[in-house]
Amino acid sequence: MSRIYNFSAGPAMLPQDVMSKAASELTEWRGSGMSIMEMSHRSKEFVSVAEKAEADLRELLNIPDTYKVLFLQGGASSQFAMVPLNLLRGNNKADYINTGTWSKKAIAEAKRFCDVNVAATSEVSNFTTITPRTDWTLNSDAAYVHYTPNETIQGVEFHTIPDTGNVPLVADMSSTILSRPIDVSKYGCIYAGSQKNIGPAGLTIIIVREDLLGDELKGTPTMFSYETHAKAGSMYNTPPTYSWYIAGLVFEWIKNKGGLDAMAGINRRKSDKLYAAIDNSDFYSNPVELESRSWMNVPFILANADLDGKFLEEAKGAGLVTLKGHRSVGGMRASIYNAMPEEGVDALIEFMAEFEKKNK
Ligand SMILES: *Cc1c(COP(=O)(O)O)cnc(C)c1O
Repeated sequence: MSRIYNFSAGPAMLPQDVMSKAASELTEWRGSGMSIMEMSHRSKEFVSVAEKAEADLRELLNIPDTYKVLFLQGGASSQFAMVPLNLLRGNNKADYINTGTWSKKAIAEAKRFCDVNVAATSEVSNFTTITPRTDWTLNSDAAYVHYTPNETIQGVEFHTIPDTGNVPLVADMSSTILSRPIDVSKYGCIYAGSQKNIGPAGLTIIIVREDLLGDELKGTPTMFSYETHAKAGSMYNTPPTYSWYIAGLVFEWIKNKGGLDAMAGINRRKSDKLYAAIDNSDFYSNPVELESRSWMNVPFILANADLDGKFLEEAKGAGLVTLKGHRSVGGMRASIYNAMPEEGVDALIEFMAEFEKKNK
């Protein structure tokens, strides 16, 4: 089989080892006589898969016992509503930090449920910077502060956790979860769609502090209540069983690789060398301020945009695909999540240098 390097922002590459294992278990899972896909989510076989996945995720992220971990459907986009529905808790004010496309979507949805204070926005810089924490105008009586640690489209990332005092911090970690260790205890709630760094699409993981549960906005649908799912172990209804299973294989793969410290080391190296290749040329450029560059999503533009089509076509010929930037920002974007091997980044850098030489 010949696999190419897929720089898609999501759904994104999965580790080869995970897919080989899944392939070997596809039609029959460990002597059970059936596929995971055909199993009752309440069977002891699937429950063992689900419990192991949660235990491994807890171990990887060092999640305190006072937090629930939920495995739901609906994508990160559903969380844009579920966060205010569950976390306002009788309050009608929430603070949001605007750092790009995904924060904007979260803000627009939250406005349906409460007064949103945009405590900081980097829109004037076209989202190439992050407003320093000291310049945020937080409300001390906000129900929570929401931010997007990694903006998948603009390629800006927080490299430290902002301090919000006693106000719970809520994070959309869709495109950065599991890329490095994080201190979960600093957060009230973390959520992430799976299709970037966790597994196949269809699963959304929510890590939420237990004491924040149980005070939903009046009229919240049962399925939109965190407490519903927390009480039922994410089995109030049928969870996305196959995605949950693959996520479990990905967690095991990360553990085997040495955990999140090891991931962080590799991710840092991969992104450092790609940014260096971009910065050391006047043919390519990345507009993001140095201290806020994403480890996961690296946008770059060609000095001559007329060459974009040719770049993409020849990259594809070299086995490097899905490098087109998001339609809202143009140019190129290389998404280099955990599953992108370092060799894939090396191959991209080599191709970029060749292309520059031939087209300068
Ligand atoms: C991809 C992404 C989303 C949207 O995820 P869905 O699962 O498609 O709803 C939200 N936030 C961020 C930061 C993302 O990268």
